[in-house]
Amino acid sequence: MSYDDRKALANYVWQHESRYIHETEKKFESYLLDMFYGYGSNHVPETAYAVLKNLWDMYRNLVCDRILKEHPELSVARCVTCKAVLLTPTAQQCFICGSDWH
Ligand SMILES: [Zn+2]
Repeated sequence: MSYDDRKALANYVWQHESRYIHETEKKFESYLLDMFYGYGSNHVPETAYAVLKNLWDMYRNLVCDRILKEHPELSVARCVTCKAVLLTPTAQQCFICGSDWH
């Protein structure tokens, strides 16, 4: 699986900067996930599942963009070597290029 910086950034912000996510945004994500997992069952067309997955990714990106725009002071932890988004704010190892600065 190849590295997707946009997706990694959205995951990072949703996981580690969730204090900036509005309650309505969290509720809407929850609603999307309910549909996503509901449609993940066998009796629903695969295309509906794919559309919901794309919608969920796009929604997370939109919220991520809003947070980064409204909070320019926010710093995202990135690898010192390849600049990939790290898994946590305090990570000292990159799972993309293997760099380790412990
Ligand atoms: Zn790296």
